[in-house]
Amino acid sequence: MNMTDIKNELDIRTKMVHAGERRPVPNGVPTAMPVYTSVTYTYDSMAEMDRVFAGETPGYVYTRYGNPTTAAFEDAMITLEAGVGACAYSSGMAALHAAMFACEISPGATILASQDLYGATTNLLNTVFGSYGIKTLTVDFNDLKAVANKAQEVRPRLLLAETISNPLLKVCDIDACAEIARSVGARLLIDNTFASPFLCQPLLHGADMVMHSATKYLSGHADAMGGVILTREPADLQGLIGTMKLVGGVLGAWEAHLILRGIKTLGLRVERQCENAARVAEHFADHSKISRVHYPGLSSPSEKAVARRMLREPHFGGLVSIELKEDLQESAFRFMDRLQLCVRATSLGDLFTEVLHPATASHRELAPARRRQLGIADGLVRISVGIEAVEDIIADIEQALSQ
Ligand SMILES: *Cc1c(COP(=O)(O)O)cnc(C)c1O
Repeated sequence: MNMTDIKNELDIRTKMVHAGERRPVPNGVPTAMPVYTSVTYTYDSMAEMDRVFAGETPGYVYTRYGNPTTAAFEDAMITLEAGVGACAYSSGMAALHAAMFACEISPGATILASQDLYGATTNLLNTVFGSYGIKTLTVDFNDLKAVANKAQEVRPRLLLAETISNPLLKVCDIDACAEIARSVGARLLIDNTFASPFLCQPLLHGADMVMHSATKYLSGHADAMGGVILTREPADLQGLIGTMKLVGGVLGAWEAHLILRGIKTLGLRVERQCENAARVAEHFADHSKISRVHYPGLSSPSEKAVARRMLREPHFGGLVSIELKEDLQESAFRFMDRLQLCVRATSLGDLFTEVLHPATASHRELAPARRRQLGIADGLVRISVGIEAVEDIIADIEQALSQ
């Protein structure tokens, strides 16, 4: 089937279609995973193709069912999260959606979710799953008594929380939540996007599944969107793959390549981002224009102990949220507009420092009263600290505050 030695007597219109394709890989192993853009895979005989289709021989047939570049990313994630299976999707939201199906969330089921979830996740649960008769109840996952009581009361099928909450950066006690989940026969799904596997491996703390928006720290360069689910049980993988095959939100090979490339520097980036975030948090903790700095390293002794148990020492994550004393949207916008280095952007975990206004971005859909209830002030600004020289980051924030 090698078309590099394409028959000379063929018409040029035929040659244009086949030339250069289906060449076997020469001896030697590529040191970086190639980008396999091929949608289909052919075999010398139909019998062989049939065996691959049946899963008797490992192989690829169609990229929605599997792709070598995407598989390399999934394998990397299995290693980093200590999972047994991984399934990659075109976005974090697609990954979450698939995870719900894999947990057999069916009409009549209840999901017990953290009240501090990423805004789109809350909306996915309430609108898409809500319309199919799946009920979502929220509770403060940092109040373990409340979580345990609610779980006993409503007998949820699934508990859903984030390792580090958005935007108040509270660290979840995953060990304790896993115990609560087990005591009521529920599964525990952890969104580990804010921590990255470098800082936390939720499966080792008892979670059943881990989800990442690979768009954030894993990719890290603001140029690729993707998502992934990791499982502890092989059986869960079948549900995830099944959803991916039928719903079709597969990760593209180019994105898989970019995210796999991003992962190679994840440790270096996150280490630097955490060091910089610690310096930023300390520097602005007593600032005259700031009423409060949210950062796990500056939390109460008991909260700090949980953060230390969950996150790789000595780190507390790469995010810092600041509350301006002038608690108004205009003040937050004015401060953000004056920044010259820090980028105004709706994401996190990138190489560069970026700022977001939760009240009008991630929590825009919430009623103002609910926002206040959750502690998301109008003057709150979330900073995803980048890898720049920290002096430059601090100087930029200083000048924007002082004007
Ligand atoms: C961004 C994000 C998501 C959604 O991921 P997408 O890749 O944007 O679909 C989910 N959870 C958290 C915590 C996020 O930050």
